[in-house]
This record gives sequence, structure tokens and C-alpha cells, in this order.
Amino acid sequence: MPLYKQQEIKIYNSLTGEKDVFKPIYEGYVGMYVCGPTVYSNVHLGNVRTFMSFDMIYRYLLHLGFKVRYVRNITDAGHLENDADAGEDRIAKKARLEEIEPMEVVQRYTVDFHNILNAFNFLPPSIEPTATGHIIEQIELIKTIIDNGFAYEVNGSVYFDVLKYNETNNYGILSKRKVEDLIHNTRELDGQSDKKNPQDFALWKKAEPQHIMRWPSPWSDGFPGWHLECTAMSTKYLGEHFDIHGGGMDLKFPHHECEIAQNQAAKGQTPVNYWMHANMLIMNGKKMAKSTGNFILPNEIFSGDNPHITKGFSPSVARFFMLQAHYRSVLDFTNDGLLASEKGFNRLMEAINLLDSLPTSTSSTFNVPEWKQFCYDALNDDFNSPILIAHLFEAAKYINQIKDAKASITKDDLAELKKAIHAFVFDIMGLEELTTTDNKGTNEKLTGTVALLIKLRQEARANKDFALSDQIRDELQDLGIQLKDGKDGTSFSLS
Ligand SMILES: [Zn+2]
Repeated sequence: MPLYKQQEIKIYNSLTGEKDVFKPIYEGYVGMYVCGPTVYSNVHLGNVRTFMSFDMIYRYLLHLGFKVRYVRNITDAGHLENDADAGEDRIAKKARLEEIEPMEVVQRYTVDFHNILNAFNFLPPSIEPTATGHIIEQIELIKTIIDNGFAYEVNGSVYFDVLKYNETNNYGILSKRKVEDLIHNTRELDGQSDKKNPQDFALWKKAEPQHIMRWPSPWSDGFPGWHLECTAMSTKYLGEHFDIHGGGMDLKFPHHECEIAQNQAAKGQTPVNYWMHANMLIMNGKKMAKSTGNFILPNEIFSGDNPHITKGFSPSVARFFMLQAHYRSVLDFTNDGLLASEKGFNRLMEAINLLDSLPTSTSSTFNVPEWKQFCYDALNDDFNSPILIAHLFEAAKYINQIKDAKASITKDDLAELKKAIHAFVFDIMGLEELTTTDNKGTNEKLTGTVALLIKLRQEARANKDFALSDQIRDELQDLGIQLKDGKDGTSFSLS
């Protein structure tokens, strides 16, 4: 029996405002879409946190035996500066400033994005589609929405008619906003005068002469509105109705609200059963922003090359730190927090390393099956990673007690404990044992130790104690360390 039949997951659903029992549309299969990055600069740590939350969710669903199709897009066109329908395309602007092709911008920051996610040990999504690769699908969607009477064309641009839509549907169903309030909240109409109403949003924008990213369409040479790409790509790969749609909290409105409206207007049904939103990451209690200097790039966490941290941290420590907060809580990124997480991470890894050498007994002083279910319960409760970690620390404490002969475990329980810990720590949380920052310290210690042994060997030779000098050389050889005698002294290499 697959694990998912034994575990009942509850997901906090932004649509209902409640923790809903997760029931996939097709038993055993999950379709999940997450809004990916706009690749016009180095990936923001806040985005990494969002994607990490969904990486853990993806890993957990896989662990339970679901067949998951996980789609996470790359926005490489259509995302304008102010998140609305005005301003310059973010990628085109960067290309203009740096005097390179827009697709060079896209390539550079897509590579950066993948490198960072690889460093953090993310699983790649099943499909990673791009907005520019789906212009035809987006044009087709616009045609359908116009045919259904929910969009209109003005001067080569096409806008979604929010008020018309709202007559028969609920615009604001996700963000819990009212259309009337949106009128009052929209201050100026400058540059938006083509729209019938200020709430309307662009499905297609006619390109200005200087705009380089443009495609032909029935309405004009132009480019699609940002919200449209996710509707086109999610339904193309997951069907018109799928299970989970995720993204950062900031995308709930207008982006996800517009996705629902577009889908409803084009296909007559709501696209998604469970809408999930990950909360923000702040630093030292304040919003992270390049302009104020309260900012860190993911790479700088690893190197330590940033004034806000006192040293570098391995990707797994940083990952552990982020998973110590629930994905729906604000996470405050601080040096002290990272230092504390590093200690906790090392404590956990030390306990895991003890698992292979623990003595077993005829009885257990700890209820391993119950503990294991507590770990599942934590994940089943809207993927509560901090509670899971608390249970893992309990297990670490128990492991240390067994080592110190203050507790006991049976052979079967030890096997179960080992298997469960490995699943939770490595498969689901995606942590890795090897830490790059520790390697540096380890290498220094190794070099010092071998240098000491070389010195003792030289003394042994000077005392004509060749048995001892040979023993040192041979036993190092057995450990994979070769000594090489040269005219400048003895050096060593690792095999
Ligand atoms: Zn999106």
C-alpha cells in the first residue's frame, strides 16, 4: 500500500482560508504549478525560500508515493517593472542598461538561478517552461477570452474586462478583495487611458517602437501580459483543472487573482483546488532591499563575503535554517539565527553518524513507531517543518543516550529509526551531510596531523628506528595517504 494511503495531508488553502484535507483530482497523481523567477537579476534569497518550501513539499509528496508533475516556469518576457501594466519590461530594461541582448540577460540569470538551486540541493521540476516559448498558446487564450466576451481590444492592446467578468464571477475570490475597493485604490490613470476601467489588466500589449521583445499577433506586434503566461503554461502541462498552485505571498494579488479570472473566462472553470502561498523573508527585522544595503545574495551566504554575516555557511546549514521556520511564517534572516542553526545541524548530523555504531538491546526505552508517526503528523499538518525538526532533535537526544548507555533500543527499532531519519532529513528536507565550510577546517586539521606524523617519522629514522618509520608510512598508506620523500623533505598526497 502506498504511503499516501496511510497519511492524510492537510494544506492551508488560500482560497478557503482553512486547512483543507488534500484530495488529488486523480488518486495517486498530483499536478503542481509554482510561479518561477523573472530572470533579470540574481535570484533573490526571498524567492529561494519560496522555492525551497515547494521543493520540500514536492519531496514529501514523492516520498509518500505520489506521481507528481511539478511545473515551475521561467518568466523571460512580459513582466513589467511595476507588476502592473505600465513601465518597461524588466528583462528588456536590463538588456538596454547593459547593452546586451534580452536573451543574454535571460540566459545569464537562468544559469545563476539553476546554480544557486543546485547548491541548495533542489530537485529540478518535471517541466520548466518559459513564457517566450508559449506565445502561441497565450495568443490562443486571448482569442478565447475575447470570444467569450471578457476582453476587448483598444489600439492594438487587449485588456481583460474585470467589471464584466465580475458580473457573473467573483473577481477577488482568492485575495478577498472587492472590485469596488479596487476602484478607490487605483489612484491614477496616466498611461492607462486605453483601459475601460482602472481594474482591467492587459492580456496583450502593443509594443512601442523602441520595445525589442515583440511578437506578431492578430491585434499588433507586441507581447503578452505577465499574468497570462502562467495560465497558458499551467493548463497546458497540468490540464484545465489541477491540484496545487503555489507562489510567494506577494503574487496572490494581482497575479494569481488574474490567473483564476483568465482561466474562468477562457474555460469556464476555476483552475486550481489548492492555492498555497509562502511568506516573506526579511533580514535583521527589516525588508531586504539592495538600495538600503540590508541585502545578501545567496552566494554570499556560502562565501561569507557580506557585512551582515560573520562567516560563510554551507548550503545545507542555510537550508536547515530556512526550514526551521514554517513556510507561512515570516522568516527573519540573521547571523545569530544561522550560527544557532549550524550548531543544531551539526548536532543532528553527529547523531545520524552514531546510528551505525549503536549497541542494540532486547528492549527499547523510546517508542520509535510513535515518534515516526509524530514526524509524519508534522508534515501532514500543512508541511510543518519546524515541528518535524523538533521531533528529529528528540531522536538525536535518544541516540546520544543510547551511546552513553542511558537508554536502549532493539535491533528492529534501530533499523526503523535509521530508515525514518534518513528519509526525513535527506530525502524530504533535502539536507546533505557534506558541508563545504567544514571541509576547509577539516583540510587544515588533516594537513597539520600528517605534518606531525612526518616529523615523528623523521625522528624515528634519525634514531634508526626503521620499524617505526615504516609503520607510520604503511599505516598512512592504508588510510589512503601517500608519503613521498624528496630532496626538499617529505610531502604527501591523498588517493
Ligand atoms: Zn505566475
